Amino acid sequence: MALSDLSGRLLLGPGPSPVSPRILQAMATETLGHLDPQFLGLLDEVNEGLRRLFGTQNPTTFPVSGTGSAGMEAALVNLLEPGDTAIVGVKGVFGTRLAEMARRQGATVVTVEGDWGRPLEPQRLVDAHREHPDARLLALVHAETSTGVRQPLEEVGRALQDSETLFVVDAVTSLAGMPVEVDRVGVDVCYAGTQKCLGVPPGLAPITFSNRAMDRIRSREHPVSSWYLDVNLIAGYLGSERRYHHTAPINLIYALYEALGEIREEGLEARFRRHREVGRRLQDELEDRGFEPFAGPPEARLPQLTAVSLPGGRDEGVVRRRLLDEHGIEVGGGLGPAQGRIWRIGLMGHGARHPVIDRLLEAVDRVLPQS
Ligand SMILES: *Cc1c(COP(=O)(O)O)cnc(C)c1O
Repeated sequence: MALSDLSGRLLLGPGPSPVSPRILQAMATETLGHLDPQFLGLLDEVNEGLRRLFGTQNPTTFPVSGTGSAGMEAALVNLLEPGDTAIVGVKGVFGTRLAEMARRQGATVVTVEGDWGRPLEPQRLVDAHREHPDARLLALVHAETSTGVRQPLEEVGRALQDSETLFVVDAVTSLAGMPVEVDRVGVDVCYAGTQKCLGVPPGLAPITFSNRAMDRIRSREHPVSSWYLDVNLIAGYLGSERRYHHTAPINLIYALYEALGEIREEGLEARFRRHREVGRRLQDELEDRGFEPFAGPPEARLPQLTAVSLPGGRDEGVVRRRLLDEHGIEVGGGLGPAQGRIWRIGLMGHGARHPVIDRLLEAVDRVLPQS
């Protein structure tokens, strides 16, 4: 196998999403040193662009070196100490992962569980906080990629505002595809991943920490259990000291820089509208063909991630494999209880375009009648 043998694919799964030629080209820029003043200037601009995207003034905003899960882990290892209580909303794979990571930090985890495919009722989260007012954090997944559900955040943000409990939000699939308003909603730590709506290859996890979260981290009793993800140490590289911590993934940061440029040129509102419009169109067209939406109610469906079951009880795995083998199109299968039951179709970043939907539907219309 040689790289040149790899054949073209259209990435319409839950990530990675298609990367635009412009971003691929940016990655081919000559590698600089991580302490080179030119690179540090670029990194400062990236962090400023991320602040705009997150809707925050937080000084501590940067890309974690690692995928979205590294962002999740960075949030939890920095905030939690053994014996802390963590409240976690669970209604899909990524809420389950948050709870597991929090447990591994020695926290007592209180889960608020709901049906996969439905958002959690905000009042239940507020009630859980009332029962555990001393909880260190409350964590929610904004866009649950395993089910295609959007979780409302505002009511919980308001309830936590005047408490000691920090609000942690997973925006891996929402950032750059729909509004994530960290400061307005009152989120303390928010992380994302580059390979979903940002349209950058996997490998970076943008993250932001509020000043109140940083105060809490500085006054920890125990050192952060992960040296690599310790934000106190990383801050020494991001700040004026420019102290070496670990080597930044230079060329991925070029890609993120270029993506932030693309987003600035398109405009955030236009970008959100584009994701909304193509997502709605795909969902309508699939329903016309007898696919059934997995997520509901309709206003809770994510436009950038469509979860559907196939018409006529077809074997989703067989049809999905034919889309890949015969048409070069990747869509995702279900996870957990939804495994073998649904498709998850991502229209994210560079993939959120009408010609992409045309190509997908043409392939579906060929493959489905023969399956
Ligand atoms: C994809 C995803 C993650 C994990 O990201 P990786 O890049 O796979 O590590 C976490 N949370 C959500 C909501 C995701 O969609």
